[in-house]
Amino acid sequence: YTFEELNLSPELLKGLYVEMKFEKPSKIQAISLPMIVTPPHLDLIAQAHNGSGKTTCFTLGMLSRVDPKLQAPQALCICPTRELAIQNLQVLNKMGKHTGITSQLFVQKDQTHASASTRRNSNPISKQLPITAQVVIGTPGTIWNWMSWKKLGASYMKILVFDEADQMLAQEGFRDASTRIMRAVERVSSHCQVLLFSATFNDSVKDFVAKIVKGNHNQLL
Ligand code: AMP
Repeated sequence: YTFEELNLSPELLKGLYVEMKFEKPSKIQAISLPMIVTPPHLDLIAQAHNGSGKTTCFTLGMLSRVDPKLQAPQALCICPTRELAIQNLQVLNKMGKHTGITSQLFVQKDQTHASASTRRNSNPISKQLPITAQVVIGTPGTIWNWMSWKKLGASYMKILVFDEADQMLAQEGFRDASTRIMRAVERVSSHCQVLLFSATFNDSVKDFVAKIVKGNHNQLL
């Protein structure tokens, strides 16, 4: 089994081979990538631990589904921590280096080192332009804020990723924001693929899965 069989663009293959230096898919990638990147793009719930290669599964999923000519958010990756969001963004930018796909990070600004003047000078939300980055990665609260301010649209959203869902759902605020994001995407985007990765499947993860994923999905446990 090779990455070539996935019908990926030459730019993405170059990202995998030259930038990432991957030779062939890992086990979880070999199983899940055909389902993620080929129609009908089923929803996927996967139990995956760190080190299994899950980041590549959803990063490739997002990069392969984005239309590089459409300047609008088309993929959303929701993470439980700022550090994980930054890490996922770095992987995306490296793997997608030759695709020209744009990305933007949405996490709480680190205010600890910002001076009082920088804090005061930050532009009011009403003056901000709508987000045109094609892939958005961040934490649930910040992403939801931008959606509720109508600066982050979901009309063209094709793929929604929940990384480390068990960590996310352990925090009430993040659980609520994740549900709101999911609902907002459902309202405006006719079909959005959902990928959910979790190290454990406790009751809160199962409840969330039941709430957000309807109909057909593949469950890899
Ligand atoms: P992850 O579980 O996604 O954080 O990946 C764990 C580590 O495995 C990372 O350092 C990846 O760069 C690496 N990795 C992921 N997929 C592959 C692959 N197909 N071939 C070689 N290394 C990989």
